[in-house]
This record gives sequence, C-alpha cells and structure tokens, in this order.
Amino acid sequence: MLLKTGVFGGTFDPVHIGHLAVAERVYCDLGLDRIVFVPASVSPFKLGEVGTPGEHRLAMLKLAIKDNPHFTVSDIELQRGGTSYTVDTMEMLRERYPQDEFYFIMGMDSFLELGGWKDVKRLVELCQLVVVTRPGYELPQEQKELSTLPPYVWQRTRFLEMPGLDIAATEIRERIKKGRSVRYLLTPEVESYIYENGIYR
Ligand code: ATP
Repeated sequence: MLLKTGVFGGTFDPVHIGHLAVAERVYCDLGLDRIVFVPASVSPFKLGEVGTPGEHRLAMLKLAIKDNPHFTVSDIELQRGGTSYTVDTMEMLRERYPQDEFYFIMGMDSFLELGGWKDVKRLVELCQLVVVTRPGYELPQEQKELSTLPPYVWQRTRFLEMPGLDIAATEIRERIKKGRSVRYLLTPEVESYIYENGIYR
C-alpha cells in the first residue's frame, strides 16, 4: 500500500513541543499517513560539538510521541553511525519502503543551509521537501531573496506557514543548566526523563 510518509530529521537534543507541533501540522495539512522522526547520529552542521548520546535522544523522542498513533521514530541514522546525511537516509528508506511517497520536513532555518547539503539533486528525487516557517525565519517574499538554489529544488519544495513557536533546543539546554524551568516547552515525560538522567546539567 502506498503511504505518504513525512520524515522529520534533526538532532532532537531534546525534542520539544515546537517539533511536535510542526510534525502534527504537516501531517494534517498535507494529508500524510505517518510521520517518522529520525534523530541524527552526528549532524554535518554540528561537527565537533558534543551532543547528548543518541540513546538518550532516541528515548526522549519515544516518550514524546507515544500518545500519537501516526508518529513513529526510526533509529536508522543512529544505527548507521558517523555523519548523518539526509540523502543517505532517504536512499535507505526508499529501499526499505519502495511504495512510499516521502516528504522531508525541515524548518526554514535548515532550508537556508540546503546549499551545503550532500547531493541535493538526488535528495529531491527521493523526496519532496516541506519547509515550515519558524520565528525569525518567515516565508520568502521572492525566490531570489532566499538563495541561489536551482529550479529542481524549488519545484520539489512546499512552504507551510506555521503559527510561530519560538522554542529551540539550545535555549532549553541552557535553561536546564541554569536550573530554570522548562515546563510546557517539553512534554512532561521528556522533562522527567531529563531530570532523572541528569542530562544538560
Ligand atoms: P538547536 O537549538 O539545538 O539547534 P532545534 O530546536 O533547532 O535545535 P533541531 O533538532 O536542530 O532542533 O531541529 C530539527 C528540525 O526542526 C530543523 O529542521 C528545525 O528547523 C526544525 N525546528 C526546530 N524547532 C522548530 C520550531 N520551533 N519551529 C519550526 N521548526 C523548528
């Protein structure tokens, strides 16, 4: 059976309600069948940064999505290890689920870096791109304003306006380090998991 599958990649360090709201909005507005969250092993844009071990990020994702039947998590990039290139992941997913139609979800901030991604031409053959707005990263007024991305990218890209949720994992990590509250920025289960395991302190 053909499934319309949204793939949401990121470091998810930690997953927060901004991510969840984006995934639900894309699922709904595009009429998808499921959303797969894919935590990166090492993001090509965060090389040299010491992040939280993949097992914790994966565990937090599982807790965050457990009540949503159309959300799943894949450890495909953690299993593969090394630097996580989206094109490699999409190639593997395509092989595993040849019938599916894939939509790769990203925030506008990530889209602005797309010029530096590995093999974008192949990537947009394997999946369409769904780009959501994020506070500080609104819809482009004109294509040329954004970047010099080639037409084959634009033809495979859809933009979706999100009600802005100005939440970022970086800020959550900093708040926890300083002992400040992050209540309502994460699901309660993820928040408890962070404290129980002493992450970000
Ligand atoms: P960090 O602050 O550590 O960079 P982050 O909050 O941006 O983390 P990532 O795991 O890097 O989270 O993000 C995964 C994807 O989700 C990216 O494409 C990013 O643009 C998007 N995203 C994250 N937070 C939001 C948000 N609040 N609104 C819209 N998109 C978001």
